[in-house]
Amino acid sequence: MSGGLFPIVMSAPSGGGKSTIARLLLDRRVDVGYSVSCTTRAPRPGERNGRDYHFLSPHEFDTKVSDAEFAEWAEVHGNRYGTLRSAVREVLEQGKHVMLDIDVQGARQVTAAFPESVTIFIVPPSVEVLVSRLLGRNSDSAESLALRLQNARTELLEAARYQYVVENDDLESAVQRVSAILDVESTRVERMPALGDQVVGVIDRLFDGLQQRG
Ligand code: ADP
Ligand code: 5GP
Repeated sequence: MSGGLFPIVMSAPSGGGKSTIARLLLDRRVDVGYSVSCTTRAPRPGERNGRDYHFLSPHEFDTKVSDAEFAEWAEVHGNRYGTLRSAVREVLEQGKHVMLDIDVQGARQVTAAFPESVTIFIVPPSVEVLVSRLLGRNSDSAESLALRLQNARTELLEAARYQYVVENDDLESAVQRVSAILDVESTRVERMPALGDQVVGVIDRLFDGLQQRG
């Protein structure tokens, strides 16, 4: 028996580890796909257009806003980010849950539009660890780093709005806990609209088997 597909909304303050956790989950779980977002920020070293983000000019982003191509979008740390409706649709059409690595503003928009979403907030074990991971990532200018740290406080205050909070202490353990949440959510009765039919199917097969043996 299987449940319906649902969006997985994962948020964290910058440097919290959501991209790292998302990447590992995608490697391990065939039932999860990733919605590649659009952004106006510049690519970091090693980031690939179309894989990590669709990197757009402000004008290209504006056009997609006015063409209503985004399921949600928001300004975060001085740049704009948005989830393409087409990206979400593509993953769902592959029969996979769609993972959205989005900020707290986007999360509110997505949960309003898709109440069946599973929302997970990733927290760092401490502010010191957060700062050291952000510095270690070595991918942001001093200005961008300061802004990301300043915004971390407001973002952390939003954690209570999420259904699950996972501390990203040990990476392997954090990935396993997020994966366990997805397993549990997939087995919730309210996500199984065809449960009645499936149960009847199982009972029919059971009785057929018994009759053949008897
Ligand atoms: P986010 O996507 O939330 O901004 P990242 O996934 O880019 O954060 O993680 C920030 C940095 O911290 C990266 O360099 C990543 O490799 C590192 N990192 C993430 N999780 C852990 C962890 N559990 N232990 C040690 N380093 C981690
Ligand atoms: P980064 O620049 O570190 O990749 O991302 C900055 C922030 O933007 C993160 O909180 C990330 O989750 C968020 N973000 C990435 N894509 C989207 C999106 O499509 N929509 C929204 N609302 N936020 C996003």
